[in-house]
Amino acid sequence: MGLFLVVPLFGPPAAGKTTLTMVLGAESGRRVFRLREHVPQEVLLATATDSRHLGWIDEQTVELALRDYCRGVSDDPNAHTVLLDNFPGAANQVGQLLSVVAQVEPRCHVEAIELLTDAKTLKQRAQHRKVCHRCERDPISDPRLPVIPRADDPWACSRCDGLLHPRRGDSPRLLRARLQRYQNAASGIRTGFTEAGITVTQLDTTSTIDGSANLLAPLLISRSAVK
Ligand SMILES: [Zn+2]
Repeated sequence: MGLFLVVPLFGPPAAGKTTLTMVLGAESGRRVFRLREHVPQEVLLATATDSRHLGWIDEQTVELALRDYCRGVSDDPNAHTVLLDNFPGAANQVGQLLSVVAQVEPRCHVEAIELLTDAKTLKQRAQHRKVCHRCERDPISDPRLPVIPRADDPWACSRCDGLLHPRRGDSPRLLRARLQRYQNAASGIRTGFTEAGITVTQLDTTSTIDGSANLLAPLLISRSAVK
């Protein structure tokens, strides 16, 4: 089938990137790339323990992971679209992404989406969201995927009944650092896309994340049908 469409989704922490990519990525033909799922455990461990480099993964590792993934999708007869959850995370990663896409499939369309959410909502969402260590076996015990709590117990996983935990990066201190980092990086990311002739579609997820998925769905369908 080949790779037709790449959709980088970026935005502040707790804006709904993972939820959106989970909803939209469930459609057939679509795959979701989450960088940390494709880097060696020792690299993840290093980023988790060094507070200055929180979540920072070196350029070479990023490029390798991204290229292997896009090649894999390009060779997959059942796939045509890659959604990038929380990537690019910095201006230099825009260039990396575009060069990888150009190498793998020069005719591939890139549709950049930035999620916007007001600061109060981000903090509230981060306070409430939970993860499940049993449903998501993270290599460094730092699960990220949002889960649904049981209706009668906000701390029980609706899928496995296990005890839910707050996400490690959502602690007030780390959330502040992550927000700050995003704010520092955002304009460079936008500029990177704009200079490459790619429009960044901004989507406000303050009131609802599901509503944003409904807004994005037709856009993705129209883009992947172009070719
Ligand atoms: Zn669970």
